[in-house]
Amino acid sequence: NKRSVDNLRSPIVCVLGHVDTGKTKILDKIRHSHVQDGEAGGITQQIGATNVPVYAIKEQSKMVKNFQGNEIKIPGLLVIDTPGHESFGNLRSRGSSNCDIAILVVDIMHGLEPQTIESIGLLKKNKTPFVVALNKVDRLYEWKSHPENDIATTLRKQKQYVLEEFREKVNGIIVQFAEQSLNVKLFHENDDPETWISMVPTSAHSGDGMGNLIALVVKTCETKLARKLAFSENLQCTVLEVKAIQGLGTTIDVVLTNGRLKYGDTIVLPGTEGPIVTHIKGLLMPQPLRELRVKNPYDKFNEIQAAYGIKILAKDMDKALAGTSLLVAYNDDEIEILKEEVQAEVSEALGSIKLKERGVFVQASTLGSLEALLEFLKQSKIPYAGISIGPVCKKDVVKASVMLEHDTQWAVILAFDVKVEREAQEIADSVGVKIFTADIIYHLFDAFMKHREDLKK
Ligand code: GDP
Ligand code: MG
Repeated sequence: NKRSVDNLRSPIVCVLGHVDTGKTKILDKIRHSHVQDGEAGGITQQIGATNVPVYAIKEQSKMVKNFQGNEIKIPGLLVIDTPGHESFGNLRSRGSSNCDIAILVVDIMHGLEPQTIESIGLLKKNKTPFVVALNKVDRLYEWKSHPENDIATTLRKQKQYVLEEFREKVNGIIVQFAEQSLNVKLFHENDDPETWISMVPTSAHSGDGMGNLIALVVKTCETKLARKLAFSENLQCTVLEVKAIQGLGTTIDVVLTNGRLKYGDTIVLPGTEGPIVTHIKGLLMPQPLRELRVKNPYDKFNEIQAAYGIKILAKDMDKALAGTSLLVAYNDDEIEILKEEVQAEVSEALGSIKLKERGVFVQASTLGSLEALLEFLKQSKIPYAGISIGPVCKKDVVKASVMLEHDTQWAVILAFDVKVEREAQEIADSVGVKIFTADIIYHLFDAFMKHREDLKK
């Protein structure tokens, strides 16, 4: 099990920041895609993973001064986009606790916002190194874009009053970071990266500074993280999403941070009804620069060495639980121990959720989105009496129907991003349990609030 700095894995890069600062748009720019346009409500609600290979890094950073693409030692970047809204706190903390380096996106016009500060807290807690993208520079009055140039050059070419506004914004942001006990500097004025955190002005809109941002992430990885990025055979794999795909059945999307997965491996992972033991029947990856989440043709592999975002085909995946670890049993004796291990992880996560005696029932597709939804309900002071992960079935309706005896307003199932089985819907209709479904948390919440108002009338 030799580890060497000559054999580096791709770093897991997490993009964090307040909602609407441009996190998804920055990713889109990196992979030349349009995920942001296609998202439900334009909000990223799940964690997505994109492999950015080294040739794409070279291509996109060729305008950057003092950066030699051919000296890049890492095989690429594995970029994770995370949801920015405040109710996604738990999901964000899952994403960021798994990452090696982060890009903290700040809207240069707005400065530090509540979730920027929350993100800073997570980064400090996990001791994750990060760089700052001062995004939306194109919004400065009369900004002239030159995405084909190094951003330092582009800055010098701006008119005097544009530069003055830029300076003023940057100085304000430096003060705001100082209030968070962080020392930041513009990257091209930072000659001591050990002490100062670098900020890169970017525009995900025009492309200004995007090459500099990528180059800075790579440089930071290679200087600060070389030892951590030495490839290790010890498996480290997290389930991001469980998804039914037409023609493939239920699949799981994972981030393989270390180690390797092989066709035929016996895998053990948590499920809604206890640990699942099955075999890998297919290892798929989207083509480079395509996100795992978006429908794309996949390439098939017999073996994949970390770090990558991977779609796994296997039997019995429909009850798999996202947001948790996946383990591999190298011999049959290990299976029972691994089952206990994965179960312990789930019990810990679910056990920390406190249920009320009276309240709504909540169902979601993943552990992460369930936690996000519960957090949102908590902030809205809506009590919850039951939780479940996976599709709404008969037994869920039966449980929720108990509330009819107490208070009809709680005889409600809030189903986020999950299917409702037909039988369940029929029973719900006949006994009077309301089921609300949505793939945007706010819509679910609005529907419920309206229902409560209607009941009062
Ligand atoms: P996220 O919530 O942080 O993922 O933000 P999005 O990527 O969804 O972007 C939020 C909005 O800001 C969208 O309307 C984007 O088109 C816009 N936006 C993102 N980056 C830029 C930028 O650099 N310049 C300008 N002018 N708009 C941007
Ligand atoms: Mg987004």
